[in-house]
Amino acid sequence: MIIPASEKVPLEKCPALVLNADFRPLSYYPLSLWCWQDAVKSVFLERVSIISNYERKIRSPSFEMSLPSVIALKNYIKPSEHPSFTRFNVFLRDKFTCQYCGDKKDLTFDHLLPKSKGGLTDWDNVVTACSTCNVKKGGRLYPVSGMTLYQRPFRPTVDDLHQNGRHFPPNFLHESWMDYLYWDVELLP
Ligand SMILES: [Zn+2]
Repeated sequence: MIIPASEKVPLEKCPALVLNADFRPLSYYPLSLWCWQDAVKSVFLERVSIISNYERKIRSPSFEMSLPSVIALKNYIKPSEHPSFTRFNVFLRDKFTCQYCGDKKDLTFDHLLPKSKGGLTDWDNVVTACSTCNVKKGGRLYPVSGMTLYQRPFRPTVDDLHQNGRHFPPNFLHESWMDYLYWDVELLP
């Protein structure tokens, strides 16, 4: 059994950034992070190489290792072209802006075809909306609501989210991750 060292940073705050074999993140949206247990396990199974470490160590009576902060897969995995359908990614597609009035506060989601009328919760039917617009539209169908969208909802590609992601970086990025994040975005014109 591995006994965590008594250092200050909690182990849960030490996820590893997972890179593909080409040293790009395995996924951006969401960012590919593994908990320390999965990272350490994959090191022992020789599925990944350690690229960078935290200062935080784990110890057992016979063994000590620094927790990996960046790991890279040994075998390349073809990345998915489409990001997952998540709350964050819908907000990011819509640039954290109400698609009806442009407000950036009190954001929630609106179903163009209301759920009560069989509307799906998917990329094509869900838009970012402020609470006021959400209440205003209520259970009405979009075409008869008299409200206008900035853009019709769509299923974005990873590239689409990349474009917007430059303006909305995640809250926490460990310094050892920075060399592997966003550099390919910055090269775009
Ligand atoms: Zn609004």
